[in-house]
Parts: sequence; C-alpha cells; structure tokens
Amino acid sequence: MLILTYEIAREDLDDRDAVELLGTLLPIFTHALDRAARFEMETRVTYISNELAAVQQKLERLDRNKSNFISVAAHELKTPLTLIEGYSAMISDMVKGETDGHVDSLLKGIHNGVERLRTIVDDMIDVSLIDNNLLSLNFQPVWLSQIFRQLGYVLNDSVTSRSQTLNIHDFPGSSEMLFADPERLYQALRNILVNAIKYTPDGGAITVDGRTLPGFLEITIEDTGIGISPDDQAVIFEKFEQLGDASLHSSGKTKFKGGGPGLGLPITRGIIEAHGGTIWVESEGSDEKRCPGSTFHVLLPIRTQPPDPKLARLLGLEVKQKEES
Ligand code: ADP
Repeated sequence: MLILTYEIAREDLDDRDAVELLGTLLPIFTHALDRAARFEMETRVTYISNELAAVQQKLERLDRNKSNFISVAAHELKTPLTLIEGYSAMISDMVKGETDGHVDSLLKGIHNGVERLRTIVDDMIDVSLIDNNLLSLNFQPVWLSQIFRQLGYVLNDSVTSRSQTLNIHDFPGSSEMLFADPERLYQALRNILVNAIKYTPDGGAITVDGRTLPGFLEITIEDTGIGISPDDQAVIFEKFEQLGDASLHSSGKTKFKGGGPGLGLPITRGIIEAHGGTIWVESEGSDEKRCPGSTFHVLLPIRTQPPDPKLARLLGLEVKQKEES
C-alpha cells in the first residue's frame, strides 16, 4: 500500500504535495505495520503455546502409561516368579543327597536368577509407588552410624573382591537419634554405595562422611570412580536413565560398570524426598582414564520427634507444641 501510494502521488501530484502527503501518511503506515506485525506475532505465540500444551499433555499421558505399565508388569511378574521359586525349591528337596554337585549348581543358577529378577521387580514396584506418591514411611528411631555399620558389613565382600577401600567416618550427628524409616533409608544409602562400588575401578576408595547443618544432616558419599558429566548429573535421578552404552555394561551387581535397569537412583531420590530431604551429585565430569570421582550429597531433616503423635506418646516423647502450651 505504501508503494502504491508513493507511485500515485508521484504520478498525480507535484513534488511538494507528494512529499507533504507521504510525510503525513508515513507515520500512519508505520503504525499500521507495527500493529500488523504485533498481531501476527501474537497469533504465532498462541499457536506455538497451544502446540506446546498439546505436546505436554501427550508427554504426561505417555508418562502415566509408562508408570501404569511398570506397575502392571511388576505385579504380573511376581506370580510366575513365585512359581519358579517354589518349584525349584521342590526339585532341590527331591534331589537332596541323590546327585553329584552338577544339579546343585544348576539349581543355584536358577536361584540366583530368581533373586536378581525379584530385586528388579521390587525396584519396579517401588518406582511406581514413588511415581504415584504412595510410598509410605514407617518412622522409627534411627542412628545413621548403625545403618552405615550394617552397610559396611554387608558390602564388605564386594569391596574386598574389587580391592577397594570403604572408609566410613563417624561424623557429627551420625550417632544422634533421629526419626526416619530405617529400612527405606538403608535401601537409599545402599543404592548410592553400590553405585560407588560399581563405577569405581578396582583399587579405588569410597568415603562416607557428613556434617550437621541447621535443622539438617548432610551425608556425603565420595568415590574415586569414573565421574559423571555435568549434563548428566540431573538425568541420572530419572527412571531408566543409564549413561553410556547399556550393551557394554558388565552384568554383575558390583562389578566395574555392572549394568542395572536404572532404577536405583530414582528410588533413592524418592525415599530421601519422602523424608523431606534432598539429594544431588557433584562431579568434575566423566572420564574413565582420569577418574575424577563423584560425591553424592544427601540432606536429611533432623527429626527428633516422629510425625505421628501417637508414636511419640508411645515412645514417651511428647509432641513439642503440646509441652510448650
Ligand atoms: P543403574 O541400575 O544403572 O546403576 P542407577 O539409577 O543406580 O541405575 O544409576 C543411574 C546411572 O547413573 C548409572 O547407570 C550410572 O551411569 C550413573 N551413576 C550412578 N552412580 C554413579 C557413580 N558413583 N559414578 C559414576 N556414575 C554413576
């Protein structure tokens, strides 16, 4: 329209009138162009946000389906697993003392396979509980030093077989009583330690330490392993996330880079968050040759009273507010 007006003005008006007309019309055209551009931009933004909302909905639906699938698959796998376990126990009883060691070693193979599968199925159930906010905690008096002592004992064979050292320090607050779910906390900390063993080469070191912060206990689990790149440090807490090529993983539970389904850290995060805490990892980066190591930090609230007032009364611990009033 601007060009058309310009041409008509040039043809039909003398120079002065044409300049005057164009000078008057130009701000109007500029304003109109500005409005048109803004309108087009708004239309595009609305279109893109609608598209994004649709994609978001689709992703949420997929995530829900994935979560439902995990839950259904885990429960469906439990029944045949129990059957295999039961029948292999019956065979074991039937052939007891009648065979050479060959059948025994075959039965042991079945037993190990079943155990492994059971751990995966249990992890799948835990993940779906966490996904659906159904993880319930059984708060009891807990001493972290005791949990770590037990973990040190249970993991001793794996650490020794890998010629690693596991240093568990008594840190401020580790011997204080706090209320938490001991089994779930054990499971969460075990997952971090098992990973530290898995992703640290033979001869490396794993160190457990910590400190008290106002209202919180900070636990650190440091290893001299392959490290985790900054880009992956948040991703590893998502379910089924494994770094590197899963087909190259070795299959042992605590072997170097022994593969797993990628459920350990999401479960650990779910458990720590259900306690009102938080977890994160620090590492310079991933390098299998230089081994910069990783440090997992767990922040746990220091709960000196159980959340359930009935349990507090049972243990002779009156709820603070009541005492004060
Ligand atoms: P997985 O069953 O694969 O061990 P996890 O959820 O426990 O699953 O861990 C997810 C991924 O995080 C692992 O596959 C590994 O790549 C990475 N990872 C976890 N802990 C460490 C660690 N201490 N050092 C290096 N990488 C680690």
